[in-house]
Amino acid sequence: MPVTHRLTAPAPGWTAATDVVVVGSGVAGLTVALNVRKAGLRAMVVTKAVLDEGSTRWAQGGIAAALGEGDTPEQHLDDTLVAGAGLCDEEAVRTLVTEGPDAVRRLIATGALFDRGEDGEILLTREGGHHRRRIAHAGGDATGAEISRALVAAVRTDPGVELIEHALVLDLLTDSEGHASGLTLHVMGEGQRDGVGAVRARAVVLATGGMGQVFSATTNPAVSTGDGVALALRAGAAVTDLEFVQFHPTPLWVGPDAEGQLPLISEAVRGEGAHLVDADGVRFMVGQHELAELAPRDIVAKAITRRMQEQGADHMFLDGRHFGAEMWEHRFPTILATCRAHGIDPVTAPIPIAPAAHYASGGVRTDPRGRTSVPGLYACGEVACTGVHGANRLASNSLLEGLVFAERIAADLADRHAAGELPERTVDVAAARAARPVPLPPSEARAEIQRLMSRGAGVLRSAASMADAAAGLALIAEQAHSHVAEEKPADPRVETWEAANLLLVATALVAAAAQREETRGCHWREDFPERDDAHWRRHLITTLAASGDPVSTPEEQ
Ligand SMILES: Cc1cc2nc3c(=O)[nH]c(=O)nc-3n(C[C@H](O)[C@H](O)[C@H](O)COP(=O)(O)OP(=O)(O)OC[C@H]3O[C@@H](n4cnc5c(N)ncnc54)[C@H](O)[C@@H]3O)c2cc1C
Repeated sequence: MPVTHRLTAPAPGWTAATDVVVVGSGVAGLTVALNVRKAGLRAMVVTKAVLDEGSTRWAQGGIAAALGEGDTPEQHLDDTLVAGAGLCDEEAVRTLVTEGPDAVRRLIATGALFDRGEDGEILLTREGGHHRRRIAHAGGDATGAEISRALVAAVRTDPGVELIEHALVLDLLTDSEGHASGLTLHVMGEGQRDGVGAVRARAVVLATGGMGQVFSATTNPAVSTGDGVALALRAGAAVTDLEFVQFHPTPLWVGPDAEGQLPLISEAVRGEGAHLVDADGVRFMVGQHELAELAPRDIVAKAITRRMQEQGADHMFLDGRHFGAEMWEHRFPTILATCRAHGIDPVTAPIPIAPAAHYASGGVRTDPRGRTSVPGLYACGEVACTGVHGANRLASNSLLEGLVFAERIAADLADRHAAGELPERTVDVAAARAARPVPLPPSEARAEIQRLMSRGAGVLRSAASMADAAAGLALIAEQAHSHVAEEKPADPRVETWEAANLLLVATALVAAAAQREETRGCHWREDFPERDDAHWRRHLITTLAASGDPVSTPEEQ
């Protein structure tokens, strides 16, 4: 299948070649790169900013795995299935929880240092939806930073991994059989590799992370603009479960007009006993769920939103004053410092919080080996939808998913290589040129897309709110087309390419969310407040129509 649409961009001015090109340098991308090396394949990691600029380094709480005494993969599976609200792929979850503990041990062997008790055992905490202490953490609340540090150190010392930073990947390239054979990218570099170029490879792995930047308020960093999902759609791949965006219940509330990445108050703070209280100081989660503050995230985010509406407030509070200064300083040093930098001292005052977009449970659809519907194109980490999260991700399952399925992709590539099924590929240049160029919105469109999405497709959704969002997004697309027709197109550059990706992903997300007329997991419809298994215990598969518009189709039941 050839790539049908591409971002408007200059023709490649330089070329490079490798065996496996990996897009993204978070836990997923770096794990693929390190593991394909073991099969003797060369890897090239291409990343938008610097190596550790992604969600991975921001992860606080930890990584879930049945490592503790008495815990089992089966119990981890049960908790994951409950959180996923009937839409998890049970086999994918089984793979995650059974391969997870050894994958964490291999991460430790790569150099990641987890917090340990005096007996040398890994310390485990609890988070929402987990019935056991099974979250391994590092540096107290700096787990992602430590994982990133260890993986970055490992790739930097491997001469078989080529690293290209400040490189925005644009689109997939295929050969005459429609097999992925490389990609186009824009490098902000010097010398030979500057501007738009092309990398040729035997296989392409997307590990581009999430899409939180589609919303105004998010915990995700600026690079999380859904580029991988947008690229996959343009390449003809199927994406799924886009409507299931997890809104974290407790990002720090920094004011009514907050935009961009917000600091996160990890679930582990509630895991250690902090209470959610309303404007009157009342613990409103007690009696709403057996796990109270540790109920699954969607339940907590909804309860907070509901209480905010009842009280006409724009935030609630997280009260951890009873921890005392010493516990705050040792267990949550990063969060303590962040709060203090914003003028709040959690030792003496409750922390203001409000829900914000946090995690994309959906993404590019993959099979258990990480293969997408386009031959030779793989996806792992937050950009992928392996089926493990269903309608809602269980806390701290995402770093684990990135790790486990990245290893599986590397294993599949190694097997194919050994069987002679991973030959060098050529690029079908005529097909690449024939793909329709997508007009670029101006860079200011980013903020408008975010406002439309937060207003129309945030924690609370309805047909009316999403129709407003869809109309606003369609207008931005129309204006981009008109500017091309009037020969006043936006310049192709990082900001406008990202805006085009955000626009496509936002449009696809709203189309799916409007179609799912029920409330399930983290998808909350005011106008369809009940879960409707008879009609909706199935996935919506989104692809790009010939017109360039995303179309969502319910999977056969
Ligand atoms: C604040 C916060 C706290 C979290 N806490 C936890 C936690 O405690 N436990 C847990 O399991 N999960 C947690 N998560 C989620 C978890 O961190 C992410 O799901 C996970 O790190 C994603 O890893 P990844 O490798 O898929 O993507 P990322 O780490 O986001 O990496 C994506 C990479 O792709 C690159 N990229 C993107 N687009 C392009 C492009 N077009 N061209 C080139 N490169 C591109 C980026 O620059 C980046 O290098 C948290 C997330 C956040 C934001």
